[in-house]
Amino acid sequence: MKEFSACPRCGSRDLRIPTFADGVVPETDNLAEWTCGRCGVRTTPVWFEDEAAYRDFLAALEASRDATRRRP
Ligand SMILES: [Zn+2]
Repeated sequence: MKEFSACPRCGSRDLRIPTFADGVVPETDNLAEWTCGRCGVRTTPVWFEDEAAYRDFLAALEASRDATRRRP
């Protein structure tokens, strides 16, 4: 089973692994902040084991966004 990562803020899978240009060593610093290609946030990615887990995450993300919107 192939794992993949996604942005914890917007759910995009377009994450850029940090490079030497970002001041980190990717091989040894794998908890470094990645950059999201969609929302641009620098964050530690969320890892998923399969598509079902990813879809659950997206649904939860959407639900929390809806809850935020409904707040006065
Ligand atoms: Zn993002």
